[in-house]
Amino acid sequence: MTPPVPDPVRLVLPESSLVLLVGPSGCGKSTFARARFSATEVVSSDHYRAVVCDDEGNQAASRDAFAILHEVVACRLAWRRFTVVDATNLKADARRPLLDLARRYHFATCAVVFEMTEETCRQHNERRAERRVPDDVIARHVQVFQQTRVTLEGEGHQHVYTLRTAAEADSSVVVREPLPLDRRGDHGPFDIIGDVHGCIDELRELLTLLGYRVGDRVEPPPGRKALFVGDLCDRGPDTPAVYRLVLDMIDAGHALMVVGNHDWKLLRRLKGNDVKLGQGLAETMEQFSHEPPALKDRVRAFLDQGQFHYLFDDGNLVLAHAGLRQDLQGRVSARVRSFALFGETTGRTDEHGLPIRLDWAAEYRGRALVVFGHTPTVEPLWSNNTVNIDTGCVFGGHLSALRYPEREVVSVPARRVYCDPGHRFGAVSPPGDEAS
Ligand code: ATP
Ligand code: MG
Repeated sequence: MTPPVPDPVRLVLPESSLVLLVGPSGCGKSTFARARFSATEVVSSDHYRAVVCDDEGNQAASRDAFAILHEVVACRLAWRRFTVVDATNLKADARRPLLDLARRYHFATCAVVFEMTEETCRQHNERRAERRVPDDVIARHVQVFQQTRVTLEGEGHQHVYTLRTAAEADSSVVVREPLPLDRRGDHGPFDIIGDVHGCIDELRELLTLLGYRVGDRVEPPPGRKALFVGDLCDRGPDTPAVYRLVLDMIDAGHALMVVGNHDWKLLRRLKGNDVKLGQGLAETMEQFSHEPPALKDRVRAFLDQGQFHYLFDDGNLVLAHAGLRQDLQGRVSARVRSFALFGETTGRTDEHGLPIRLDWAAEYRGRALVVFGHTPTVEPLWSNNTVNIDTGCVFGGHLSALRYPEREVVSVPARRVYCDPGHRFGAVSPPGDEAS
């Protein structure tokens, strides 16, 4: 009877990954990398040793080789390129600078660990046509590896995969996973809608004006899709109705939304976190109490999987609630999330005791148009290649949409002032509060 063939190991690697191959000399890292990644994706210490001294095996060149390797990795991550580091990466000290680079560029790290026996590495080494590594080097690598293997798990890699035999390495399958925020293949046309804050009547009216058929379900004009900049909830008259309408549109493939800071706070409340009920959240919870509990569950489940920004149209359009600097676009980290939710604050407060925001849009030089909301303004506010389309409907302003690629603004006036704007609304570029 033939033994059962084990399932191949699936290595799921997000596109924004820095992949570290880890294992003793001879375990098969370069062989594995050559068969699975393009030549430019693989950054190899052997290669840079040869570049500096014409001998890839000369360990005396390692210091220079790694200095270049780290520079190349930094450049590739700045270019947002998937990158594989082909080096032994055995010690935590060797991995640390790579982890630091990944953090700096908001990349995940993944480790592919070749946990082969010393015997396997030696047999591989003997078969080498090119340079052969002395046996004692392999023995030392295996020893170091055994001592440091355990620390790998606690280093914060998004995935750690282990290949235990040459056969397992040969049959393993790499699955490159696009980021959910990456919708560059979606070219629209889009209708991008500002902060709704529970203003259901104005939302229905705006969609109608944009040519959507608004009944129990919402049907877009052929080919068009609605994009929401987030903050569907709080302060307005009917937050549950707004979520129901928007989530139905999303489920039908007619809309997408990014999470805003109010949606985020609601999510944390729905997940049972201790969140203060200010800024309209108490009224939102009260409105939900009149709805079937399933709606709250649906909203929580959706927001829990929500995106904080999207790239569209070959990267020419970025959607984020509070906007997003160019160097953070297309990346995933707590910092990117926080910027997309709240923008950038100075750390100082204004005369009302509220945080002063930095005007990132004034400095923006990116190629992509960034459409955002978050800070209410009287009219859509263009600045460089950005536009703020939160025209403060809930404060008695307007609910606005930007048609893309047409760059036309369509607005409907608020039916009334649902929330006292206080100092928040009226100035064209006010320092607002963190929770607008
Ligand atoms: P180093 O750290 O020294 O660069 P490495 O881990 O990159 O080593 P490779 O160069 O990939 O090791 O492999 C060493 C030799 O072993 C190669 O000549 C290759 O032909 C052989 N080899 C590697 N992987 C396998 C495999 N899965 N099955 C059979 N032979 C293999
Ligand atoms: Mg190699």
